[in-house]
Formats: sequence, C-alpha cells, structure tokens
Amino acid sequence: MTTITKAKNYLNYINGEWMESITQDVRVNENPANRKDIVGSIQLSSAEDTDKAVAAAQKAQKEWRRLSGAARGDYLFKIAHQMELRADEIAKTMTREMGKSLPESKGETMRGIAILRYYAGEGMRKMGDVIPSTDSEALMFTTRVPLGVVGVISPWNFPVAIPIWKMAPALVYGNTVVIKPALDGAITAAKVMECIDEAGLPAGVVNMVTGFGSEVGERIVNHPDVNGITFTGSNATGKRIGQAALARGAKYQLEMGGKNPVIIAADADLEAAVEGTISGGLRSTGQKCTATSRVFVQSEVYEAFKEKLLDKVKQIKIGNGIEEDTWMGPCANENQLNTVLSYIEKGKSEGASLIFGGRRYQDNGLEEGYFVEPTVFEDVTNDMIIAQQEIFGPVLALIKVDTIEEALSLANDVEFGLSASIYTKDIGTMLSFINEMEAGLVRINAETAGVELQAPFGGMKQSSSHSREQGQAAVEFFTSIKTVFVKP
Ligand code: NAP
Repeated sequence: MTTITKAKNYLNYINGEWMESITQDVRVNENPANRKDIVGSIQLSSAEDTDKAVAAAQKAQKEWRRLSGAARGDYLFKIAHQMELRADEIAKTMTREMGKSLPESKGETMRGIAILRYYAGEGMRKMGDVIPSTDSEALMFTTRVPLGVVGVISPWNFPVAIPIWKMAPALVYGNTVVIKPALDGAITAAKVMECIDEAGLPAGVVNMVTGFGSEVGERIVNHPDVNGITFTGSNATGKRIGQAALARGAKYQLEMGGKNPVIIAADADLEAAVEGTISGGLRSTGQKCTATSRVFVQSEVYEAFKEKLLDKVKQIKIGNGIEEDTWMGPCANENQLNTVLSYIEKGKSEGASLIFGGRRYQDNGLEEGYFVEPTVFEDVTNDMIIAQQEIFGPVLALIKVDTIEEALSLANDVEFGLSASIYTKDIGTMLSFINEMEAGLVRINAETAGVELQAPFGGMKQSSSHSREQGQAAVEFFTSIKTVFVKP
C-alpha cells in the first residue's frame, strides 16, 4: 500500500521566489488511488497573485530575449540535468497525485527531460531565410522574434510533459512564462519548477501560479501584458479561452479533446491489433487525449478479435500505480470517475451491449480510490453518445464494419480529429487511410496514443486551433516573423 507521509505546502514561484498566495487559501491534493494519502497542499491564488507573476515575467523579458539562443539553450540543459537527478521523485509524485502507473510516470518524466534537451539544441538553429530582393543593392531576410510573455495553461493528464513541451520552446525562442498548471497536477508541476529554480534561471523568466482556472487561468488569458496563450485541455475551456484571446488580439494555441478510432482490417495481425487497442485505449486509465475510444473491426475477424481482446482485458491488473504489478491505476479524481460511470450508464441505456467491466472497482484494498473497471461495449452505433463524445476513461466501443470504406467514413463522422490508427498488411489500405483519415496524427500498425517529441503534434477539426506543438513546428507559435530589408 502507498505510505502516508507528512504533507508539504507547495508555494507559488514568482520572480525567482517561493511565496504563499495573497489569499492564504490552500487546497489539499489527495492520492486518487487512496484518498487518505495526502500528497500535499497547493496555493489557491487570486488574480492579484497572477498579476505579480505577469509583472515579473514582463520585467525579465528584455534581458532574456537579448541572450543568444545558445545561452538560453544552456539553461534548458541545466533544467534537464536537475530533473534527471530527481526523476524518481518526480515520477512518484506524479503517480501519487494523478494516479498514472509508475512506469508511465517515469516514462513521462524522461520524456520531459528529452524535450528540454531537444529545445536546448533549437537555440543554435536557423531562425530565418534570405529572400532575393528586386533591389540588387539590398539585402532582404526574415528573422524570428519572441512574442513576449507567454501564458501556459495545462491539464492534469501529463503534468510534466505538457508544461515542458510548452515552456521549453517558449523559453528557447526568447519568451518569458507564467504557467498555471491544473490543480490536479500542480504538485508535480511544482517539482518541475523546483528544478527550474535549481538550474538558476534569471528571476522572473519562469513563474508558476496555482489556483482555479476560473480565477488564475482567466486572469492570464485576459491580462493585457500576456502576449500569447498556449492551452491544452477540454474543448469547453479551450473555446472560451480562444474567444477571450481573440477579443483582445492575443495569439493563442489550443490543443483539446479527441475521439480516436482504430480500424482493424480483415488482414490485420490480430495479436498486434489487440495489444495496440488495449494499450492505446486503457493505459493511463484512458485519460490521454490520443486514447483509443472507438474500435472499428471488419466483420470477417470481428469474433476472433473480440475474443482475444476480452482474454487480455480480463488479465488487466488494477492497482495503486506505485505497486510494480499495477497495469491500470485510478481515474485522476472523483469527477472523472463519476463522468466515466455516467457515460457507461448512457451506453447501456442507448442499447449498447456491455461485454466487460462497467463498474466502480473497490476490491483488494482499493476502496478509498477512484477506480473503474476496464470496460468494453459492443453493438455500438456511431450515433450513440459513447461513440461521439470524449469519455476520457478506460472504455472501448466495438463497432462491426463490412468494408474499410465504411470504417473510414464512420471514423471520420465525429467532431474531433486528433489521432487515429489502422492495423492492416495491405499497402493500398494504408494509403487510403493516410489520405482520407481526418486526424492530425495517423499511425499504421501502431496504437493511437504516442507521438515522438521531435515531430509536430496537434489535431484537426474541433481537436485544435490548428497550429502544431512540439518538434520544429513549435517555432510557429512561439515567435513572430520579422521581415528585414537593408539598403546600405
Ligand atoms: P480542463 O478542465 O479544460 O482544464 C485544463 C486547464 O484549464 C486546467 O489548468 C484548468 O484549471 C484550466 N481552466 C479551467 N477553466 C478555465 C478558464 N475559465 N480559463 C482559463 N483556464 C481554465 O481540462 P482537463 O480536464 O484538465 O484535461 C483533460 C482534457 O484535456 C481532455 O479533453 C483531453 O483530451 C485534453 N487534452 C488534450 C491534449 C492535446 O494535446 N490535444 C493533451 C492532453 C489533454 P483547473 O485547475 O481549475 O482545472
């Protein structure tokens, strides 16, 4: 069982100092696997705290942008080093705070470190092009300049990787940052902030304010001195942020939900397809934006696939995340648990057949946690709520199809377009899928979840505001192009 430790109060990080919120209010973060295990408390900050952080970021801007890209990159290398020294501690905190299994938390922490190193190198790469001028005596070129102060608003499901994949490019391209992590991942984010502090970044370059999205988040979005807002989270919140940012002319970037399909073609390697469907759909308790949710299976192999899938799902070990044999941890909080259970009820009432799971799990000493069984439905039609809305839980909906064309048409018939995958051996089927699937990330013979940090990531349709994060694509959001014309 998880050990119960004395809880620490985590502070805001503003202008290089750790400070309490002006409100003096705190929130206690419990372990979703065991509510009796208190991970720590965090500040419930106000708009005034947020203003202080923005002022610090604005003050630090001038000097930070004047540093060379290489010098800014050096700081990122230092943060990566500090994180590496504390990787186990960060991963354990993540598991205790939001329930992801420890190997997944370790993987995410190592990924955060790799992202920092990747962007550290970006400080040395080209930032523009020479463009021939019609004036033969002139030199014309482009360069890129930072936006200024960037507001980062992040979700709880990747409490290390997402803040880092936003902050690292922001910083290396010369911006300063105010971050509001999700309440449910704020202690993990505070651990990353401690590494930033230990790396010795100049005061004010990175600031963290914790608190409610409706208070701190709204203030960041509406603050006149915040020049860009990068957000990952739900569609409802994202749209609100996009509208507010647009109204005051700030640059914004939204990465939001998904309803990701996998297609199992009649010629698929069924073992691999089952592995990929389970891993894509149920790892992290289905709480990934790229999680597999809808499973389109060609009728010839439907029964064989279903049987193999159920065999494996039955073996899934639910646990508290820290224990080594945990395959699937809890939902990240009580709201999530209730949302998932209510979607399961909707599925049943709409006529889908529940063929595995579907209940809250409270066995084996896990009665104090927010666990739900891995759940599989069949007889799902594409118009059902469970086939259209993002559940964000360990729920798979099986849909039988006769042809790949039918699968593609149904797979595209949702408002989201984040990721999609197909299992097939046929090159023609692969190409149709690549060409016709409406998703920002398409994967062949691989699960829907998972993107490499050096590649662009983002959704189509309602999943995104249509920019891309990660890899070299990040330069588009975090900088503005300046065109320069020089006549000697
Ligand atoms: P969320 O409820 O939208 O929250 C995201 C962040 O926004 C949190 O920090 C939240 O603060 C803050 N927020 C809430 N209301 C706000 C407001 N009015 N103004 C400014 N900020 C506000 O999402 P979530 O439940 O944390 O995350 C799950 C969602 O994220 C899913 O839909 C998932 O698909 C999506 N996601 C997308 C990607 C991607 O790259 N496309 C990656 C991961 C997750 P609080 O602390 O108060 O909650």
